[in-house]
Amino acid sequence: MAAHPAAMPTRRLLPLLCLLAVAATAAPVPVAPRDRLLQVDHIPAADQQPGHRFDYSDYNRVELLSLVRDQALLLATAAEAADLQRAGYQVTTLLQSADPLTLYRRALYGPTLRLPSVYHTYDQIVARADELVRLHPERIARVTIGETTQYHRPIYAYRVSRDARVPQPLPGVLFDGCHHADEVMGAEIVTALLEQLVLGYGRDPRVTGWVDHCEIYFVPVVNVDGHDIVTSGRDPRWRKNARDVNGDGVAGVFPEGVDVNRGYDFNWAMGGSDQPASDRYRGPHPFSEAENRAMRRLVELKPFVLSISYHSQGEVIYYPWAWNGLAAPDDALLKEIAGAMAARIRTMDGKGTYAVSPGGPSSQSYAWLYGRKGDFDFIIETGKGAHLFAPTEVPGLIAANLPGAQALLDRAAGPGLAVRVTDAASGRPLVAQVWLPRIENETVDRRATDPQFGCYWRLLRPGKYDLIISAAGHAPAVLPGIEVKPGEWTPLEVALKPESPAP
Ligand SMILES: [Zn+2]
Repeated sequence: MAAHPAAMPTRRLLPLLCLLAVAATAAPVPVAPRDRLLQVDHIPAADQQPGHRFDYSDYNRVELLSLVRDQALLLATAAEAADLQRAGYQVTTLLQSADPLTLYRRALYGPTLRLPSVYHTYDQIVARADELVRLHPERIARVTIGETTQYHRPIYAYRVSRDARVPQPLPGVLFDGCHHADEVMGAEIVTALLEQLVLGYGRDPRVTGWVDHCEIYFVPVVNVDGHDIVTSGRDPRWRKNARDVNGDGVAGVFPEGVDVNRGYDFNWAMGGSDQPASDRYRGPHPFSEAENRAMRRLVELKPFVLSISYHSQGEVIYYPWAWNGLAAPDDALLKEIAGAMAARIRTMDGKGTYAVSPGGPSSQSYAWLYGRKGDFDFIIETGKGAHLFAPTEVPGLIAANLPGAQALLDRAAGPGLAVRVTDAASGRPLVAQVWLPRIENETVDRRATDPQFGCYWRLLRPGKYDLIISAAGHAPAVLPGIEVKPGEWTPLEVALKPESPAP
């Protein structure tokens, strides 16, 4: 996000004054360091309007470090601090230091310079989930989906279902957090939801219904190495993974790393940046990062119908996609589901609910999951004005977001087609392409049944649809006018006849 020109009038004028000074004297003008961390309290609502001094769109994590409710934390020069005071703001200098990292740590971790204990480290998250596995092995299982790029730590998914000990032929739902290291709310929300579903089963009828009718996976932290840099108290700004990009043998030096939410292979080269210093560096090639390969392995293990990838911040839900003005083939349904979730998530100011917007079509998880795999994936940008929120905000943010996740789980009950394809001769499940030619154009890959069960769940609005189902070595099935009933999955069993071998 670029700084809004009206953010700091002194800053806006500085380049112009420098130019004039250089023209007059040809001598370099020393630039005052932004070495003060200021807290500004009781900012009037009028000053947070667009174009005003504390416009939310100025929040850039570099100078305006947080802007939550009526309080701002920012880095400033001595002159900028004096200017704010002259303008009548209630300004406190929290810290003065020549070391920017110390200022960021004080701003984002608080007075202890350590992550507040309301947040959890990956070890703590895994310990909580593993305890649930120990207590409820029939309800939750741990699956290792890969390891991290730099430190080779295991990346875990947790599977929750009516019998988690074995994979189920049920529609898959995925919740993941922390592709971006400092967006730690994702890990907290995913872990809270995991606990709610495991502990609520058999007690809360809604929870029981979700768990009985879907197979739900949780990846609390995708970017485990980056999350550790943030949660261990080393660097609260960290966003990317910990890859030692320049290969000098020293990892974890800001701003090294690869943005693991730019590493998927759907329109990869259109997304992020090819510059290693960029906070959106996409890496040298698609799936260069082990974190992305872990997610790919998970999706090969279990195809998903619906999923949420949690990020911060913005109080907005992104759905696939706006692509040079073209909407996704399932735009109406995607927008409807995003809207149903957004309407259930209250904003921090309590005055409204989350917004919805189509996202770009490139390299991020939602574009890849939808474009390649047919999974309706949504990014939820939790909270507003910070990435690491003050401890007092965390329980409220979790509580506000859970109804959005529940709205997604409600949609996993259909309506749509529950397709199962078998070989007509052997009765065995078949990997087959399931194509709805009136909906799915060339912007998306063909959707397919899974190898284990031959199943594919296809969300649709009630109505009639044409399908073409095909598999190698089999005669295709052309199925016009298949009716999808409201409010439930419509089963569709298809047995494909093997083609007789050529004479
Ligand atoms: Zn993010």
